[in-house]
Amino acid sequence: MPELPEVETTLRGISAHIKQQTIAKAIIRQYQLRWPIPANIQQLLANKSIAKLERRGKYILLRTNSGTIIIHLGMSGNLRILTKPTPPKRHEHLDLIFHNNKILRFTDPRRFGAFLWVEGDPYEHPLLRNLGVEPLTKEFSGQYLLSQAKGRTIAIKTLLMNNAIVTGVGNIYAAEALFASCIYPAVPAKSLSIERLDKLVKCIKLILRQAIKRGGTTLKDFVNSEGKPGYFSSQLKVYGRNGSPCMVCGKTLERMLLGQRSTVYCGSCQR
Ligand SMILES: [Zn+2]
Repeated sequence: MPELPEVETTLRGISAHIKQQTIAKAIIRQYQLRWPIPANIQQLLANKSIAKLERRGKYILLRTNSGTIIIHLGMSGNLRILTKPTPPKRHEHLDLIFHNNKILRFTDPRRFGAFLWVEGDPYEHPLLRNLGVEPLTKEFSGQYLLSQAKGRTIAIKTLLMNNAIVTGVGNIYAAEALFASCIYPAVPAKSLSIERLDKLVKCIKLILRQAIKRGGTTLKDFVNSEGKPGYFSSQLKVYGRNGSPCMVCGKTLERMLLGQRSTVYCGSCQR
């Protein structure tokens, strides 16, 4: 599933091609995504210019002067830029064709993604309104987590994955940051000291920034790419490594279910 670094990398990758560019035409081959694409989207988007691209959590906002396209990549979606007309393959549901001849193509095999149009303030849209703080901002701190954990019995990993508290730290990066900060994923959030929460926040920011940086080196994949751009699995230390040896102590990594999500951890390094 695309997580925050993949979404940020996607945003940066497409920005250079479509910022300040005007949409000539929208071609929709499949309207049924997680929510239906508005039926009149062609009329809505014709001749709109992309003034600004923004990310909020895992949403990509393409802002025009009279409204905003809200895109979510869902479980399996990706966006890429084509520089010449290319016959669509299966699951390539949508093209935005720009006056500069660039084509923004949205692919989503599982169709859990979204492509919506909103007039007015996009941050007031029901999908965005209740999102928590951005993990790469100053507002996200150990102190903030401490205040959110107060009086709750929630496990620290479940707290991190609550989008209303901090948005965009998904399963992969929550597991990786807990490993990096030596915190057992199921530990009650409220029992962690401010020192440990500070360390955790530092690790989350570092790991997200490193992933975004690595994504930057694959930006070329956003042009005429056949594959899925921007997945950084080679650097993961626990996620997807159940049964393999811990890279720090050598003990076999274990797996548990937390909030119905699979979590891999080291029973020896994480307390
Ligand atoms: Zn270990």
